[in-house]
Amino acid sequence: MSTPQTLSSFKEIEGLEVLDQAQAHEKYHRNTLGTSRIIRGALRPRRTEDVQKIVVIANKHNIKLFAFSTGHNWGFGSSLPTVDDCVIVDLSGMKRIVEFNEALGYVTLEPGVTQQDLYDYIVKNNLPFMVPTTGAGPTCSIIGNALERGYGLTPNIDHFAAMLALEAVLPNGQIYRSSFQEFGAGRSDKIYKWKIGPYLDGIFSQSNYGIVTQATIEITRKPEHLGQFIAFIDQKNFQKVVSIVAGVKERFGTMIGGVNLMNTHRLMAMVEKKKEWQVNGIVPEQHLHELAKKRGIPDWAVLIGIYTPKELMSPMKKHLFKEFGPYSKHKLFLTRGRLSFIEKILKFFPKLWINRTINTIDLAFQILEGTPNEVALPLAYLKNPHPLPDKNRHPDYDGCGLLWYCPLVPVDGSIAEKFTHGVKEICVSEEIEPMITLTTISQRCFASNIPLVFNRDDKEQCERVYRCFNRLMTFAQELGLFPDRLDIETIRKLYDTVDAPVFDLALKIKEALDPKGILSPGRYMRVKNPRDAHSKGDNNSV
Ligand SMILES: Cc1cc2nc3c(=O)[nH]c(=O)nc-3n(C[C@H](O)[C@H](O)[C@H](O)COP(=O)(O)OP(=O)(O)OC[C@H]3O[C@@H](n4cnc5c(N)ncnc54)[C@H](O)[C@@H]3O)c2cc1C
Repeated sequence: MSTPQTLSSFKEIEGLEVLDQAQAHEKYHRNTLGTSRIIRGALRPRRTEDVQKIVVIANKHNIKLFAFSTGHNWGFGSSLPTVDDCVIVDLSGMKRIVEFNEALGYVTLEPGVTQQDLYDYIVKNNLPFMVPTTGAGPTCSIIGNALERGYGLTPNIDHFAAMLALEAVLPNGQIYRSSFQEFGAGRSDKIYKWKIGPYLDGIFSQSNYGIVTQATIEITRKPEHLGQFIAFIDQKNFQKVVSIVAGVKERFGTMIGGVNLMNTHRLMAMVEKKKEWQVNGIVPEQHLHELAKKRGIPDWAVLIGIYTPKELMSPMKKHLFKEFGPYSKHKLFLTRGRLSFIEKILKFFPKLWINRTINTIDLAFQILEGTPNEVALPLAYLKNPHPLPDKNRHPDYDGCGLLWYCPLVPVDGSIAEKFTHGVKEICVSEEIEPMITLTTISQRCFASNIPLVFNRDDKEQCERVYRCFNRLMTFAQELGLFPDRLDIETIRKLYDTVDAPVFDLALKIKEALDPKGILSPGRYMRVKNPRDAHSKGDNNSV
């Protein structure tokens, strides 16, 4: 069937916005990987019933679909499918907040609800809760991020762990609800993740088994007190400090959020002006260290958000100063009150460079407070020859080049040091700035996040960044480490190279649910049908 015919069948759905191939290409093809896919069109449903009708039509006409929530999966593929020739199902117009349960601390929402939407709702209704913010910022979907197993720094660090319940449209058009829902126990459903019987909600995360149209997530109440502890660390104390981080995380549990360890390059990317970063090549080590010295930036900084009842803040603060004391010359403790005081004083000295740093610290503090903002986004612009917009940043549209590399690393000083050392060496040899952050998603697991930032206009850099990525993957696998999220190019290649029962099982489930393979082919699994395999040819037929 030709593309216009394909799309015309969807026009039967009343009120459905249908974008033709050219419109869909214009809206969705740009991405920070600098890659491309042939997109056959796009559909923008408003209701679950629209989604049901879409999959029924897709099955009838053998049309491949790719669904996302807001499609801001920057650094992993953005809005692009894993394979060519899909029609996009953009759920960003489904924006209902269905229930906010203040007493039990959960919210039920649709995929189009962004961090900013939830924040506005909380403010408007004067609710004492925090948005599960991420560095990706205000325009990103709460559900999309959670389904892709994203994480943040507020105490609900692991966003899929915080997803208590969901509803999904299966590839045959039926609606999946949990066993509790089907037994008429909607109340139990929203408060207990594991339900009764086989746990099936989990199969909808990082998969292609259904389109999630609603979910309930745990949401954290604002703490009585919020503080941020920062310790500056020399490389020689790195291993010891990692073991202190593990201890602190174990001791204080959810009274602290995700602990971040950031290296010099990453810290400098947050505070140094864009003009200091060369668009091609990397800042020479010597020069970077001179700049860092001038700004008082250490080898590593440990950043800990503390969320406590009033009476515990002071003993926790004392404990952190005591634990990190012998290994850190400079330690800071920030509260909103202290930051405001510093900002008031600095108003009298508007030209001091420290203003810039304090402004960044303030915005980062807002993220800890559950207030979404764009503070982390400039990172994606580091090698972008075009100017950094002041607001409404969109790394895809603004021409940023970014590929995330993010293996899980044990909170073990010796392994973490070996890993970070190797990453730095490989990145530098490939002329990619080695910006490293390790975030605790538990007392035993660091999610490393290493943005491989490049100039998307430069073809040679686009190739180099994948060479660097592949070397990093091989190096980490030798250490027994692997990422928990992958970009669409790597997914496509990787799953074709491995054969094992676990991947066969994933495919068998896929075949049972989606015999024609219409939904998001190749998403974190092999493609079932060779016709679905990625190809760059454009023959204009589905
Ligand atoms: C500077 C920067 C900082 C970042 N910081 C963070 C961070 O702190 N934490 C973090 O986790 N990420 C971060 N990211 C990565 C990414 O941008 C975010 O994870 C973002 O939230 C993902 O985009 P989205 O929310 O629009 O999800 P989407 O793109 O909508 O969803 C992601 C994927 O999930 C699947 N999916 C989504 N919705 C559905 C659905 N309803 N049904 C079925 N499948 C679905 C699709 O396969 C989709 O490709 C960062 C990116 C940048 C550039």
